[in-house]
Amino acid sequence: MNQVASMPTNLEYDLQSGTRGERDDHAEQLICELLGTEAATVVNNNAAALLLVLNTLAQGLEIPVSRGELVEIGGSFRIPDIMEKSGCKLVEVGTTNRTHLKDYLNAVKNSTALILKVHTSNYSIEGFTSAVGEPDLATLAHEHNLPLVVDLGSGNLIDFSCYGLPEEPVITSAIRNGADIVTFSGDKLLGGPQSGIIAGRRDLIDRIRSNPLRRALRSDKLTLAALSEVLKIYRKPETLARELPTLQYLTKEQSLRSLNKQYFLAPQLAGCLPDGFTVEPQPCLSQIGSGAMPVQNIPSYALAITAITDADLRRLSEAMRRLPCPVLGRLHEGKLLLDLRCLDDDEKFIEQARHLEPLLL
Ligand SMILES: *Cc1c(COP(=O)(O)O)cnc(C)c1O
Repeated sequence: MNQVASMPTNLEYDLQSGTRGERDDHAEQLICELLGTEAATVVNNNAAALLLVLNTLAQGLEIPVSRGELVEIGGSFRIPDIMEKSGCKLVEVGTTNRTHLKDYLNAVKNSTALILKVHTSNYSIEGFTSAVGEPDLATLAHEHNLPLVVDLGSGNLIDFSCYGLPEEPVITSAIRNGADIVTFSGDKLLGGPQSGIIAGRRDLIDRIRSNPLRRALRSDKLTLAALSEVLKIYRKPETLARELPTLQYLTKEQSLRSLNKQYFLAPQLAGCLPDGFTVEPQPCLSQIGSGAMPVQNIPSYALAITAITDADLRRLSEAMRRLPCPVLGRLHEGKLLLDLRCLDDDEKFIEQARHLEPLLL
């Protein structure tokens, strides 16, 4: 990123032919190598990816989507709204908890453009449920000469369960299961810069790339440089937990335990706070968020701060947010929890905490 930021680059210049190049050339090969797809393109984020895919392949046409998959993501991204803005018509199939293959079959008509499956990133439907898997949807779509598009939300290139983390769909399995196009975020579990990746069949990607909207949604050279570097780490999965900050944070439990940070930080933080506040080490649960792993929390350790009144605790939490490097805690069961999973620099943290007292006055 530093390099491309500080000098001219061949972002859209083909050095071999000496003619205009394609900005996707820089990341496309890496994406295709990692996913096993024919082609790929990168845009501003996954919302843009979906907008572009649907607008290109389905404008003026219908798309069946399961009622269980009409997702809203925080910050007001809703599948039905994005479909409307793409100029296509949502055809709801099935029910909230159960959708069957025959529901899709009944919805497919001459005016159907594609079948869309959306990963329910931030919620889970449990109990009496059924959903149609990608292999069956792919068969149905292909029998009717339609593409299957899968919006995976969070882009997982590796199986997170091998790090003891909750399972999330892996992109390559959606592709193996017959998806013609997948879309996913570069900045959720993938751990890269804000971006949306569209990968799949070359003929479809070519159409997507030539949509005039793409220029409005494309990524700049800094993003493409950062994304390429993150993808290069994925070429060596054994180094991921060490090299990729997202995975470092997610797999921190062991090191937290062995360092016992909580025991030496608790008295130090307590020493920086006025009378009436206490600080104790305490096990806690980290929520992953970021539109992934919605129901499972992962064990961690926190500094748990108590105060005489709830108002004191809220004042402390406000004061912490006003520090030069803001510290975000979580009010939980009458305590302010500071999850140590996200603390990188212990010394800086304590050094800053010395400035809390005046902020509390
Ligand atoms: C997060 C998410 C999006 C939006 O992705 P952004 O990169 O945040 O724009 C779209 N679809 C699903 C299923 C998601 O989880």
